[in-house]
Amino acid sequence: MSTVRELYRLACPECGEDDRLQILVETMVDLSPDVTTEVDNPIHEWREGNYCACQACGHEATVSDFDFIEVGAS
Ligand SMILES: [Zn+2]
Repeated sequence: MSTVRELYRLACPECGEDDRLQILVETMVDLSPDVTTEVDNPIHEWREGNYCACQACGHEATVSDFDFIEVGAS
């Protein structure tokens, strides 16, 4: 099974965690007068500038800051 680090090239630059990341994305929803419901099989896309947070340590930044190549860089 692939890891988030391998699949998306993302990991937390602060603690190195890669399986507790959250990204703010745009998605499609069906509208009705009472509720919005996410469509079946939604596409979740993000860009480097989207908000990203690590639930392991609380670090918040943009997706580009979570590029795992940056981990350990000074
Ligand atoms: Zn972290």
